[in-house]
Amino acid sequence: MKNKVYDAAILGAGAAGLAAACKLSAEGLSVALIEKNHRVGRKILSTGAGKCNISNRNISADDYICSDKEKLSVIFKKIAPEEVHSFLSSKLGIMFREKEDGRLFPYSMKAETAVFAFERFLKSSKADIFLLKKAVSAKKAGDVFEIETVPVSFGNENKTDSSKKEIIRSRKLIIACGGPSYPRIGGCADGFMLAEKFGHSVLPLKPLLTSFSVKYPDLSNLDGVRVKASISAPFLTEKIEGEILFTAYGISGDAAIDLSFLAFQKNPDSVFIDMMPDKSEKEITDFFSHLKGDIAENLSCSLDRKLVNFIAGFFEHKGKISGETALKSFAGKIKKFEISGLAPMGFEYAMAKTGGVPLREIDADFMSLKQKDLFLVGETLDCAGRSGGYNLHFAFTSAISCAKAAAGP
Ligand SMILES: Cc1cc2nc3c(=O)[nH]c(=O)nc-3n(C[C@H](O)[C@H](O)[C@H](O)COP(=O)(O)OP(=O)(O)OC[C@H]3O[C@@H](n4cnc5c(N)ncnc54)[C@H](O)[C@@H]3O)c2cc1C
Repeated sequence: MKNKVYDAAILGAGAAGLAAACKLSAEGLSVALIEKNHRVGRKILSTGAGKCNISNRNISADDYICSDKEKLSVIFKKIAPEEVHSFLSSKLGIMFREKEDGRLFPYSMKAETAVFAFERFLKSSKADIFLLKKAVSAKKAGDVFEIETVPVSFGNENKTDSSKKEIIRSRKLIIACGGPSYPRIGGCADGFMLAEKFGHSVLPLKPLLTSFSVKYPDLSNLDGVRVKASISAPFLTEKIEGEILFTAYGISGDAAIDLSFLAFQKNPDSVFIDMMPDKSEKEITDFFSHLKGDIAENLSCSLDRKLVNFIAGFFEHKGKISGETALKSFAGKIKKFEISGLAPMGFEYAMAKTGGVPLREIDADFMSLKQKDLFLVGETLDCAGRSGGYNLHFAFTSAISCAKAAAGP
């Protein structure tokens, strides 16, 4: 065992690492899958709020932020979405549930079903899975990669025992260590450090698909309130529709996550929220003008009470708010509520990142142009998708493509 040389070693058993391990094992290669967490697929379990938006029917390079879109288009032509979907469904046995907008989920709408499918496939393969083992360095000696690993303490991945180093050897090496988002479930920058050792560059990492802190107004009283809303801003070509979750620090929810993608590099300071996007201001005033009594109480029969009281706080009033002018102002605020001093939250809250190893440093099969037989996949690369299954799709595309190339013709 000590002197065994695997056909391929994969660093990281996340979305890309698991898919590569399954595909390589299916091709008959001996595989070592090395993971620092105590179980495989930890981040997959948190995807889509536990539902796992596993892919999308409509994939194009335009759905990604990437410094080399031309290479990305070539990649998506080489490994079409249908091939990825067929791998997930026919090989792994994951039946999809499809949404009208093309988003794909496991039929169960549970991320653990997807992870189970990978685990089951690997159980019946000859892949060796090393858990609680962290790859700390890798180098090539002759034709063989030597990966230095250290054991990790269960429950505290930062606690390693460097006195118990172990070397794992392989002919091909796949770096699938993911990115720095959600450090509490394993997100880290190890993959970039390992890639740099082989001469790769790393474009600056920035959080993406994240919530925003908001300076004005102070939204802490709205903590926990959810609204189906739309967001508009001068730099947006169309409104973003979706749920906004107000938090003690600012805004989260689908719409905020989409804003993070569309506002990337625009650094928006302020945006407008429409809390009743399917009603015009006139429809709102017409409806409520027929009701007698306090406007805030009347509105609380249709809108979240916390939200109504929060908006009422913007009016100078003692006791009841009433009258046509007040109702018009209230409706105006509901339709166009400005929040300003927006700043994207950090990696703790981000589902993805921009930056990483540029695609120009790999070929269309994800092999490194700096080191033969080294492959870089998933979030190690500079390719970040919008919300909607695009990031897992890229992880699976890169894994399948690299495994095909690593297995040879
Ligand atoms: C909360 C959340 C929700 C998300 N929801 C979705 C969604 O619904 N749809 C979607 O498409 N995308 C979603 N994403 C993004 C998606 O999860 C990632 O893009 C995808 O997991 C990237 O795959 P990967 O294999 O590159 O990295 P990961 O899945 O992060 O896997 C990397 C693995 O490498 C391991 N590792 C790192 N360093 C080492 C080391 N030195 N030694 C050994 N092991 C190491 C890590 O522990 C980890 O298990 C979400 C992300 C988050 C955080």
